[in-house]
Amino acid sequence: MFEKSTWIKLPRNVLVGHGVLDDVGTAVSELSLAGTPLLVTSPTPNDLAGDRLRAQFDDVETVTVGSASFGAVAEIVEAAEAADATFLVALGGGKPIDLAKMAADELGVGFVSVPTAASHDGIVSGRSSIPEGDTRHSVAADPPLAVIADTEIMANAPWELTTAGCADIISNYTAVKDWRLARRLKNVEYSEYAGALSEMTAEMLVDSADSIKQGLEESSWIVSKALVSSGVAMSIAGSSRPASGAEHLFSHQLDRIADSPGLHGHQVGVGSILTEFLHTGENGQWRAIRDALEAIGAPTTAAELGIDDETVIEALTTAHTIRDRYTILGDGVNEDAAVEVATFTGVI
Ligand SMILES: [Zn+2]
Repeated sequence: MFEKSTWIKLPRNVLVGHGVLDDVGTAVSELSLAGTPLLVTSPTPNDLAGDRLRAQFDDVETVTVGSASFGAVAEIVEAAEAADATFLVALGGGKPIDLAKMAADELGVGFVSVPTAASHDGIVSGRSSIPEGDTRHSVAADPPLAVIADTEIMANAPWELTTAGCADIISNYTAVKDWRLARRLKNVEYSEYAGALSEMTAEMLVDSADSIKQGLEESSWIVSKALVSSGVAMSIAGSSRPASGAEHLFSHQLDRIADSPGLHGHQVGVGSILTEFLHTGENGQWRAIRDALEAIGAPTTAAELGIDDETVIEALTTAHTIRDRYTILGDGVNEDAAVEVATFTGVI
């Protein structure tokens, strides 16, 4: 008898397009969400779009968050309880969305994601990670009930946020390779469907690289759709595996040790060049990854990330310790090997 079962949770309404910010109210009422929303945002997105959003609800409170921390999550929970909020609407780049996602999970209510930048796949997925002291907590929560991505607003976000979103998608290539490796070596559960969807998403983004240009609203549209599709792959897998492998460990490690870390997507992009080399060697596909990143204007070197070479080497040699996730890093890359990889690929 076949007894296996999986629970796939997906966003129900996804709107991507010009001016869809004004459709948040409609998207919410279509979800039959009763009661009062709490708007979770940070100062800049609030100035940019807060009023337009609030105008769509009869009764809405707002909480403005600063840094990504557990304190901020507690603040949102408190504000939601004080306002008797029955669901959350997160407006902003990655931060308010990550925080609202965790607070919604704690409160046992749903949330709606309204990203103002296409900077990483957290805007769609049920995953969030929040730094605490020296570590990083990765939390699995439900994905948003709805994602409303207004390309007009996103196109006006700083351009590097869009290239970071692209690089986060390009890193799916190595994430899936790590996932397959873990299946072969550690019998980690693998989903063909999720793996293929994740790779196809990266493929389609790379194929559209010519249309990803500063000042072109279509760029935000392409990246948003790719981020949604990547989020769906994670929902199908029931884990972040389809979009997060060793390149993500490398980036999390840089977040911990670099004086001023780069954007998440930019760091995982550079990480992908390195881990692709580890997977397939000098004649492998690391050049294709580097060229794709270069084509969209994302960093491909430590210098472009604004991080010194030593820190990159330290991150590469210690990234495997970050979490219990088997990847090409195995039980660690030694320093000489790390220097060789980073030098050969031109990262340092
Ligand atoms: Zn990512």
